[in-house]
Amino acid sequence: MEKKFKKIGVLTSGGDAPGMNAVIKSVTCAAIEKGVEVIGILGGYSGLINDRTRKLTALDVTDIISKGGTMLYSDRCDEFKTEQGMQKAIATCKRHNIDGIIAIGGDGTFRGATDLSIRGIPCIGVSGTIDNDITATDTTVGFDTAMNTVLSLGDALRDTSESHARCCVIEVMGRNAGYIALETGIALNAIGVVLQEMPFDKERMFAKMKKMRELGQRSFVVIVAEGMGAPYAEALTKEIEEKTGIESRFIRPAHIVRGGIPTLADRSFASKCGYKAVEALLEGKSDLVICSRHDEIVTTDIRWALIVDRMYKGKLKDGDLDKFTPEQIEEMKALCKERHDYFVKNYEIVNSIGC
Ligand code: ADP
Repeated sequence: MEKKFKKIGVLTSGGDAPGMNAVIKSVTCAAIEKGVEVIGILGGYSGLINDRTRKLTALDVTDIISKGGTMLYSDRCDEFKTEQGMQKAIATCKRHNIDGIIAIGGDGTFRGATDLSIRGIPCIGVSGTIDNDITATDTTVGFDTAMNTVLSLGDALRDTSESHARCCVIEVMGRNAGYIALETGIALNAIGVVLQEMPFDKERMFAKMKKMRELGQRSFVVIVAEGMGAPYAEALTKEIEEKTGIESRFIRPAHIVRGGIPTLADRSFASKCGYKAVEALLEGKSDLVICSRHDEIVTTDIRWALIVDRMYKGKLKDGDLDKFTPEQIEEMKALCKERHDYFVKNYEIVNSIGC
């Protein structure tokens, strides 16, 4: 362990996710175990700019692993994107002798972390986002809980839809990614799943619904990813009624899916990520994000992670790839293909078996 690390900071930023508390707990306990003090920064990067901090002891975090939300609160902070805001944040770190920071959030949070790293404050990112929309990692903290929350809601909706012979169209969160929609679509036996990543054959779904109704099926579930934009799901609900004659209801659970008790998978993943983040920071590493790759917890360069994300989403800008070696670019392309193949393969499954 490098001597210079006496005190580290931890913060949660951007949209909250169940399991963020489990990361905070793991970071705090792992650091204290290694003789390092932990400062909780309140309200994400705005807490860093405005010097809102609290010391964290093991006792402070002892019972948070089972709680949704984040005990450090979360916020969005545009000032942090400015040089002036950045300098205020650095001044807070200096004032409290914070040697490095673990930032829990999504890709925006990682962008902030890399900006801080460049200016001399070592940072490690840990994912905390229900959407699973960070290309570099197979899964994110909060994703499993969010899927399970949708599952419970969907099962309840199926009960009432069965009683009344209805179709329910559920819009699930996922502004930039259809992972929640795809996985819950399979688990809820949805007859249709609509997401940005794959073309949706509406007429095929209407025909299948009519056929199943003729055979005597009473209830139907259709899942739409938030990324389709409003009022896509509302309009589809109306169209289902018009085209199939099946009474339909639109449901948007929205923020309910962000809260709740984290599942075992999220608590376990969050705890392992928190531990790995402390280990990396205290080894003197910086500008890394903790990822899951094929069931292993690994560290990935934040800048590589941000660019592979842009590549996958088709948003690469001129010069984005200039700083990477041909091997790194090949790795990015292979990962993008892996993500795309996942959607192709599983969309085929949901379309084949959903009824
Ligand atoms: P998420 O981390 O969930 O993707 P946001 O995109 O809202 O959420 O980002 C969270 C915060 O990270 C922002 O409010 C801002 O403080 C910081 N941030 C986002 N983008 C940048 C950037 N380009 N430079 C510096 N900080 C950023």
